[in-house]
Amino acid sequence: MIPFNKPYIAPKEFDYIRQAIEGNHISGDGPFTKKCNQFLENALGVRKALLTTNCTHALEMTALLLNLEEGDEVIVPSFTFVSTINAFVLRGAKPKFVDIRPDTLNIDERLIEAAINEHTKAIYVVHYAGVGCEMDAIMDIAQRHNLQVVEDNAHGFLGKYKGRLLGTFGSLATQSFHETKNFSCGEGGAIIINNPDMVERAEIIREKGTNRSRFFRGQIDKYSWVDVGSSYLPSDILAGVLLSHFEEAEFIQSKRKQLWDTYAAQLGDWALENSVKLPFIPDYCEQSYHMFYLLMPDLEIRQRFIQYLKERDILAVFHYVPLHTADMGQYFGYQAGDLPVTEEYSDRLVRLPFYNSMSEAEQQQVINIILTFKAQGR
Ligand SMILES: *Cc1c(COP(=O)(O)O)cnc(C)c1O
Repeated sequence: MIPFNKPYIAPKEFDYIRQAIEGNHISGDGPFTKKCNQFLENALGVRKALLTTNCTHALEMTALLLNLEEGDEVIVPSFTFVSTINAFVLRGAKPKFVDIRPDTLNIDERLIEAAINEHTKAIYVVHYAGVGCEMDAIMDIAQRHNLQVVEDNAHGFLGKYKGRLLGTFGSLATQSFHETKNFSCGEGGAIIINNPDMVERAEIIREKGTNRSRFFRGQIDKYSWVDVGSSYLPSDILAGVLLSHFEEAEFIQSKRKQLWDTYAAQLGDWALENSVKLPFIPDYCEQSYHMFYLLMPDLEIRQRFIQYLKERDILAVFHYVPLHTADMGQYFGYQAGDLPVTEEYSDRLVRLPFYNSMSEAEQQQVINIILTFKAQGR
């Protein structure tokens, strides 16, 4: 069976787990966490990055940092993972869903302005598949309407839009290091703080609402409860795992690029013959090589394709049932038909097996079987 995803084991992974345990610092913010924060700050060229327990929690931190509350609205795509929305729904704010572009499947920036009203506080964008949203237009709209921008960059670490790294545009951005992402420690994430005014409060919120980080830096002589907060620190054992993956960044990214390019090159003719669309990457975007997806002609063919591969021991998966058509989306007043592009592409999309340790032979097996699939007729 060729799985959809397989966790990658980095050369130093077990060494670092052992070091964390033997070093007697397995709670949060130990030496490995500090190295991971530094790696992220250097890689992105940002002033502050903090590891979190996962990307979901990093997103929750953004909603706290922006003081989102009941009565506020947040502009967001419906074609995303639930955590992008739950982050501010937990604070009482409401999602204002905007449809996606049919080319990149990112939020359609041309529809954002019409969704803004006096309750709008922020725009949460998702760089789907690590291909940048139209950040020039989005930052311009945000500036003109005095809105905060948060980038859910779970897919997009090291991707670029017009030469600038994803995660460096909004006041805040989040990363995921879940098992299925390019870099992983099983469950992990990070918050990127680009607005210098939010750095201190981010540390406080992440440390249970206390100014403990300042205390440890010797800036104050005792720490206390100064704000709301929670505990968003991963164990230093997990930070060790993550650092071992970060140290393989060059290998991981070049391996994923090679897998992506091979799929694209070898499936091109078959896709044309079968009215299947391959991912579109604008020439001013450098993608992060997070995933490889196909857009099948329709839902019926997509389901038949997934079944066809499964019967031949290959696991391919669909992605993102639109959130506005889910029970919670309906609770917020949405229904099927509201976002036609999101609904159509969600029905058509299928993700192919794609992981750091995928061998050439495994990928060739997947490709060979796909090449025998006919979209029309049985
Ligand atoms: C994976 C993912 C998340 C959540 O990440 P966790 O680290 O599992 O909490 C959030 N948003 C998007 C777009 C994701 O793909």
